[in-house]
This record gives sequence, C-alpha cells and structure tokens, in this order.
Amino acid sequence: MKLLVIAILLYIGYRLIIGDWKKKKTNREENTDQDRQDDSTITDVLVEDPVCHKLVPKQQAIRLKHKTKEEIIYFCSEECCKQFVSQEGDKE
Ligand SMILES: [Zn+2]
Repeated sequence: MKLLVIAILLYIGYRLIIGDWKKKKTNREENTDQDRQDDSTITDVLVEDPVCHKLVPKQQAIRLKHKTKEEIIYFCSEECCKQFVSQEGDKE
C-alpha cells in the first residue's frame, strides 16, 4: 500500500515537472511581426536640371519622360520643363 502511494506521488510530481517544463518550452517568444519601415521614399537624391543646371531634390522635381530616349528628365520648375521641350522641338 505504501509503495502505491509513493508511486502516485512520484507520478504526480513527475507530471508537475513535465508540465512546467512543457509550459516553459511553449512560452518562447514568437514576435516575428516587426515593424518594417518602408525605405522606398528617398528624399535626399539631387538631380540636375538640364536647362538652368540647378540641383533639385528628386521628389520635388518636375518629371518629364524623354520622347526618344527612354529616360526621365528632372526640372526645377514647369518653366524649365517647357523651355527644355521647346528647345528639343527646335532641334528637329
Ligand atoms: Zn530650372
């Protein structure tokens, strides 16, 4: 009878230890959802205006896609853009 009680106590103790150990194992940190900031907005890039040769931040610049060359040209203002377009027209 005593052996049975000891066996039961050991079993309970064993279950408690195993249960606690399992809990600790499953409590591992799973914080994978990190706040990734989008770095696609580059603001510090300067582009040269081909008309007045002023350096303009890319984000603020007036964009014009060149007709013949497959490239984008940046201008400091609409006026420079228009001037460039008219100059290009004169060439032809
Ligand atoms: Zn300009």
